[in-house]
Amino acid sequence: MNWLLPRLAAGVLAMLAGGFLGFIASNVEHTVVWRVLAGGGIGVAIAAMLDTARGYRLINWLRGSQEQQAPRDAGFWGELGYRVERSIRLREQGLAQERLRLEQFLSAIEASPNGVLMLDQNDQIVWCNSVSADHFGLDPQRDRRQRITNLVRSPAFVAYLQQADYPETVNFPNPRGDGTLSVLLRPYGDGMKLVLSQDITDRERNEAMRRDFVANVSHEMRTPLTVLAGFIETMDNLPLTEVERKRVLELMGQQTRRMQTIVSDLLTLAQLEGSPRPAADRWVALAPLLVQVEADARALSGGRHEVSVAAVGSVELAGAQSELLSAINNLVSNAVRYTPAGGRIDVSWCVLEDGSGELVVSDTGVGIAREHIPRLTERFYRVDGSRSRDTGGTGLGLSIVKHVVQRHGAELDIQSEPGKGSRFRLIFPAARLRGAAA
Ligand code: ADP
Repeated sequence: MNWLLPRLAAGVLAMLAGGFLGFIASNVEHTVVWRVLAGGGIGVAIAAMLDTARGYRLINWLRGSQEQQAPRDAGFWGELGYRVERSIRLREQGLAQERLRLEQFLSAIEASPNGVLMLDQNDQIVWCNSVSADHFGLDPQRDRRQRITNLVRSPAFVAYLQQADYPETVNFPNPRGDGTLSVLLRPYGDGMKLVLSQDITDRERNEAMRRDFVANVSHEMRTPLTVLAGFIETMDNLPLTEVERKRVLELMGQQTRRMQTIVSDLLTLAQLEGSPRPAADRWVALAPLLVQVEADARALSGGRHEVSVAAVGSVELAGAQSELLSAINNLVSNAVRYTPAGGRIDVSWCVLEDGSGELVVSDTGVGIAREHIPRLTERFYRVDGSRSRDTGGTGLGLSIVKHVVQRHGAELDIQSEPGKGSRFRLIFPAARLRGAAA
């Protein structure tokens, strides 16, 4: 009530002031009462007009956007304006904080690596993050309030959505048709649903690769083991002559060596996959590596091929010596093994215009048909299985080369033509090269 008394006092004061002025202005005795009354009335009317003008200013401010300050009048209207403005400002601050919190919350969900989609009671889209939009092929703005089943028509997903509860995830091909999605649904609030999605294409591919790998290793080991078991049985059951015994032992030795090579290649691969990348500041001279490669190639060829290894001067590559040797050796031994007698094997080196270095192993051998080339670095992939096995191949050589190349930041490029020969290029980036003249 502390606003009422000053207002009453102001009213009374205005009346008294008006009355007093009326009294002074009267000179005839009998009109004095009327003049005082009229003066008081005029005083009150002026006060009321001033009051109305202030109230009108405040109402005008309230009708507007209230961005400017409320009218700063004295007395009742000033106080009212100040209090209304303060409560508006407090509410605005509260709303801004809420909005900020909501934005932070949504951007946290947006940053999630998984898809998050919110559905209302009618399975209509309320909100989704961009990962979910990508998974389901949705447009977050355009598809808001659309029924999800009108947009994602996968029967597995629709059936899952219609279940009473959702204890497990459901997997189905993603609507783009190039992978697999795993979806988990969680009900919340009043009949709302949270749809969490994950792209499991890579996981499934890795699983399939792991299964294939185990099957391939088992198959590769089973063949020599079966042969060995057969020989052991033969030696056990049949009386063999000394010559036959020697032959059987030789064949058993061959199979054992084959298994040893497979296991050794598998261990190399496991080591390449499981160890840190070779340091970029450990330098390996290329010339001594190539000397060893040449010696190994000549030994493997046994004089059946013309082998030529170019001089590389003082070139050094950054990386691991054993890995680089293993990669180049694999390429050169392939060249020897897939080139008929009388053919030619060349190892050359050059520095390209952009400063990168190119080591090329080329042969005039059987060559490879174009459709096989992209798959050559897959584990156990062979163009001609029997030829590979007959020459002591494991099907893992190029896979090892690929890993070494990746670990050294290099590239492997394969060009080949059936009947004409092949060219395997290892391209090392300029940063991993030193002591080379362009
Ligand atoms: P392998 O031990 O069978 O040689 P690799 O992984 O080294 O396994 O090579 C994969 C396949 O690529 C080989 O089986 C062979 O068919 C083909 N290949 C590799 N190098 C050559 C080459 N220089 N000439 C022709 N074919 C090759």
